[in-house]
Amino acid sequence: MLICNPITYYGNYLNIRIMTNTKYIFVLGGVASSLGKGIISASLAKLLQARGYNVTIQKFDPYINVDPGTLNPYEHGECYVTSDGAETDLDLGHYERFLNQPTSQANNVTTGRIYQTVINKERHGDYLGETVQIIPHITDEIKYRMKILGEKGLFDFVITEIGGTVGDIESLPYVEAVRQLKWELGNNALVIHLTFVPFLAAAGELKTKPTQHAVKALLELGVQPDILVCRTEHHLNISLRNKIALFCNVESSSVIESIDTDTIYNVPILMHEEGLDSEVLKKLNIKDGKTPNLTEWDSFLKRLKNPLYEVNIGLVGKYVELKDAYKSISEAFIHAGAANLCKVNVKLIQSENINDDNAESYLKKLNGILVAPGFGNRGIEGKISAVKYARENKIPFFGICLGMQCAVIEFARNVLLMNDANSTEMNKRTEFPVINIMENQKEIENKGGTMRLGSYPCKLKTNSKAYQAYGKPDIEERHRHRFEFNNQYLQQFIDKGMIATGNFEEKNLVEIIEIPEHPWFIGVQFHPEYRSTVAAPHPLFVSFVKATKENL
Ligand code: GLN
Repeated sequence: MLICNPITYYGNYLNIRIMTNTKYIFVLGGVASSLGKGIISASLAKLLQARGYNVTIQKFDPYINVDPGTLNPYEHGECYVTSDGAETDLDLGHYERFLNQPTSQANNVTTGRIYQTVINKERHGDYLGETVQIIPHITDEIKYRMKILGEKGLFDFVITEIGGTVGDIESLPYVEAVRQLKWELGNNALVIHLTFVPFLAAAGELKTKPTQHAVKALLELGVQPDILVCRTEHHLNISLRNKIALFCNVESSSVIESIDTDTIYNVPILMHEEGLDSEVLKKLNIKDGKTPNLTEWDSFLKRLKNPLYEVNIGLVGKYVELKDAYKSISEAFIHAGAANLCKVNVKLIQSENINDDNAESYLKKLNGILVAPGFGNRGIEGKISAVKYARENKIPFFGICLGMQCAVIEFARNVLLMNDANSTEMNKRTEFPVINIMENQKEIENKGGTMRLGSYPCKLKTNSKAYQAYGKPDIEERHRHRFEFNNQYLQQFIDKGMIATGNFEEKNLVEIIEIPEHPWFIGVQFHPEYRSTVAAPHPLFVSFVKATKENL
């Protein structure tokens, strides 16, 4: 624990230098949000990893929710789940996909979690009569969490991305923590500021003023950035770089261009060409003559950019206005597409618009249909109609979490003729509760962090498509749900041709359902999309895309 008594406490406050070789890189953003701090952080991490270093990335989010689990996807996009069961920001998905390395609860911290910890300590009496304040108590808790992964001795680099934009009221304590740490850590810390260089079409010019102002905003808070990464639609010429360098107190070589590109997976290559990784090493006094080994990454890009096939897959869900709501699913299709030398066009389809009568008009041109995860009633009947269309027309079907539950409901209604079959999430009084609340969920009232979350083992039946895809009987997958298949009905499903091919044996929970008579019909209670990475595309996505190719 960082804070035990006032003496050690102010010892920390007064900046004792930390004797560690771990290097801390902070990535902040100015001018606007959505410039791609997550992708820049992940790309830098990839380049350092490709040079043989151990790297981890963490994200600090300035909002007051304790975690993003209770957030509507419209707010910040999908909620990403780690294997240790943390509900986190979607940027952690990028970190895992780029590094092929798991993250954990410690990699995502919010203001809510910081305050919760400090307030709990205050109630516990840990501050021994002090007035508890933003500085030093909140900032010290932030600093403690910024350093915690580095102090395990496992990482050469800890990259910390600060959410939001410098200048926001809510990010002030984080910038202050970075200011203090930069001083304490000396040569072991480095600040990268991601800014924007807009192109004014009327003037036909790139403008550096927003970047100058963004750096000024950071300087006002006492932080001099070491490296500027400038997001732009057009190349920055040398005189523009010199101008930015002059006004922002950085070397010209530290002005890094981040140009728009057609896939986020180009960014590590672009950053390497711009010299971001060498500049980081130079600034941290690390002599490293090696170049990053990007052979695997390059071969992935080659496969991605030279597809031999093209398929259209419908993603039936209710958050279709916002691509980020299904981020991990879209990325998993990119990985699986590259593995199949196949361009996958993911068509987002609003489930609220679909019914049994019009399903064909929405779905007939598709080579495969994926019904998305989700919560609550909205759009559920359309998802069930989409399953019916895929099942009856033998279109490859993949159901994830709620999508799997919809497949079970559809089969119950239309094959087992249980007319009002449903999940008790949607209809508590249904006569046929084929999807039911899990036993240990019944008494839970708090919504935050209380679902069945994180990795659980699953045993596969060897004569199944799932087993063929994974090539092994024992798997582990990540979960985020409260409802489950109701085993009371299992035999009736089996008798009519829907079988359970994956099981969590300890609790006898059905994790995978299949229809063997169908070319490819799989529903999974877990979220395979969270485990798909560039280096290890998810086997079920690879197998599904292969099936859609065969359905061309
Ligand atoms: N709402 C469903 C449940 O809680 C499915 C959740 C999901 O799709 N992640 O079980």
